[in-house]
Amino acid sequence: ATPLAELDPEIAAVLDGELTRQRDTLEMIASENFVPRAVLEAQGSVLTNKYAEGYPGRRYYGGCEQVDIAENLAIARAKDLFGAEHANVQPHSGAQANAAVLHALINAGDKILGLELAHGGHLTHGMRINFSGKLYDVGAYGVDPQSYRIEMDEVRKKALEHRPDVIIAGWSAYPRHLDFAAFREVADEVGAKLWVDMAHFAGLVAAGLHPSPVPHADVVSSTVHKTIGGPRSGFILSTAEHAKKIDSAVFPGQQGGPLMHVIAAKAVSFKVAASESFRDRQERTLRGASIIADRLSQPDVAQAGVSVLTGGTDVHLVLVDLRSSQLDGQQAEDLLHDAGITVNRNAVPFDPRPPRVTSGLRIGTPALATRGFGDTEFAEVADIIATALRDGASTDLDALSARVAKLTEQFPLYPGL
Ligand code: PLP
Repeated sequence: ATPLAELDPEIAAVLDGELTRQRDTLEMIASENFVPRAVLEAQGSVLTNKYAEGYPGRRYYGGCEQVDIAENLAIARAKDLFGAEHANVQPHSGAQANAAVLHALINAGDKILGLELAHGGHLTHGMRINFSGKLYDVGAYGVDPQSYRIEMDEVRKKALEHRPDVIIAGWSAYPRHLDFAAFREVADEVGAKLWVDMAHFAGLVAAGLHPSPVPHADVVSSTVHKTIGGPRSGFILSTAEHAKKIDSAVFPGQQGGPLMHVIAAKAVSFKVAASESFRDRQERTLRGASIIADRLSQPDVAQAGVSVLTGGTDVHLVLVDLRSSQLDGQQAEDLLHDAGITVNRNAVPFDPRPPRVTSGLRIGTPALATRGFGDTEFAEVADIIATALRDGASTDLDALSARVAKLTEQFPLYPGL
């Protein structure tokens, strides 16, 4: 019964310090969000004690009657939310969901085709030292060097050359919609399965504000912690045809005991994601990203060599191109950090700088939308970012920090926690 602060004051101090950091800064990492108190409660619960290998009604452990209810709710809600025939809610993370997808669909040595990592793809879509690059024969498509968009002619050309068994549509850093119907056509033409990784835009899909991949894909994987704003974890949707293979690829293929406290929190998040207030949040997320893209396209910023990739955004993030700026990605990330805004540097396609430095920034709006920001606040944030990127080393950091502090005070995070 000893409280954490007494049992382990060092770790208690980390928790306190992190809460303060989250409260006092503007979180704009595109893959992050703030979970509701109900999710913190479910995750910090006694469900963490339970072993439940297997699936509801078919467990390898006794005493699963309560956790079965939680997992069945999570499955039913995920299927409902996305209109899917099958859902597996056990993946511990997005990467593990993706490992299970490939494990289910193909064999080691088979061919996959995904978006180039340097153009916004994910590690699990075929990076050389990731399991996906080691186990499978990898081909990649890139964005167009002029439009910076994924052009389906290029995807088709690469698919005809590489003849993949699985085509992957999905991204970690790309600001536009994908044409899932066109991906399906290419997949059918070359006899490949279509796997969509919607980790980033799943919340937008759930709210009906982004085209859904579910009607087109054989399998859809996702995380729960990005735009959905739930616990750090993954899930997989599929057609009924692939259900059995997906389930056995997750357990026992990739994982042992599921994290039942996290699965309960996923159920909570899927319930939240079906609500009207969730849709409103996703609308504010999208408008916020557009407001930032517009502000960063104004002449004062352009004169400093800063531009927005593809000229705007359809989603919750903006990719900033710093190749002609005095700042590199690392310097821009540090500058915004010093003003109280957390973003991550990100390689732009055809980036001349190494991945640890980069020539770009990825700026996302989901966490601030969850915090309550609307158009007015996003316009203020956009102007703070624009001012910093424009003024570079001569930025008046005190003035910008004061503007950040005003916003964080106006929208308290986790009051009473
Ligand atoms: N898929 C995509 C497209 C992602 O962007 C990410 C996360 O960055 C993942 C999968 C992996 O998720 P996780 O970090 O939970 O393993």
